[in-house]
Amino acid sequence: MNSAALELAARDGETLTPPVTESPLSVRGMTVSYGEKAAVFSFDLSIPAGSMVAIVGPNGAGKSTLIKAALGAVPKLSGAVASFGQDVDAVRHRIAYVPQRASVDWDFPARVIDVVMMGLYRDLGLLGFARKRHRDQAIACLKRVGMDEFSTRQIGQLSGGQQQRVFLARALAQNADLYLLDEPFAGVDAATERTTIDVLKSLKAEGRTIVCVHHDLTTVTEYFDHVVLMNIRKIADGPVEEVFTADNLQATYGGRLATAQIDQLHLAST
Ligand code: ADP
Ligand code: MG
Repeated sequence: MNSAALELAARDGETLTPPVTESPLSVRGMTVSYGEKAAVFSFDLSIPAGSMVAIVGPNGAGKSTLIKAALGAVPKLSGAVASFGQDVDAVRHRIAYVPQRASVDWDFPARVIDVVMMGLYRDLGLLGFARKRHRDQAIACLKRVGMDEFSTRQIGQLSGGQQQRVFLARALAQNADLYLLDEPFAGVDAATERTTIDVLKSLKAEGRTIVCVHHDLTTVTEYFDHVVLMNIRKIADGPVEEVFTADNLQATYGGRLATAQIDQLHLAST
């Protein structure tokens, strides 16, 4: 992507308005660049309500950037974003975001219960003091992820899988309608993976929308019903059984996937 192409994308993007849709997250013509090179280029996306979506692509494909820019945490060069038909800022309370674990400073001194209570901040109000009811709510969320016995531990003292569960508990406390999780299964133990997928599936059963950046191609068909394949540009998106194909995967990974690898996946037939 050269700078001329970026400029063009930016100019095109100026006139864009978000599509009128009740989609939990829709993106139109979004380009994001940290410098000369686009991290996300000319991206269109409309996440179907109530779906469980995997965002899949190689390292450096712009997956984290796509989510962060959609949430306004990273500046966009161009493009429009809407959430539930509104500006993201207007519906932030309906969105829960779980960052990639590697991007969090775990020396931050906070107890597990405090981290989960951050998810209740709207409910806590301006005074910000927690009542017993809020503590009970936070403990209930920790229980759902099997971490209630760790409530007074320092977050930095937990294993990676345990930290991931605490973040999931905080997202649960937010009682959101749209959950965005960046690689929730990366580097976690099997029990945490199981707990996480069970919790996410129960959220989906409640009608909420889940979007995960996901790196493990072998679990895409089992865990998700919708997939977005990307490598800076969008390669394909749609129901897993339609777009999770060998051709689309090769296009996404630039032909770097071995046939043997592809054969192990439960792919949609082309
Ligand atoms: P993914 O999540 O798919 O691995 P990222 O969105 O993290 O990809 O990164 C996309 C590209 O943008 C990569 O080339 C990465 O090196 C670059 N990048 C990400 N964050 C920054 C940043 N804060 N500053 C500069 N470059 C960045
Ligand atoms: Mg990432």
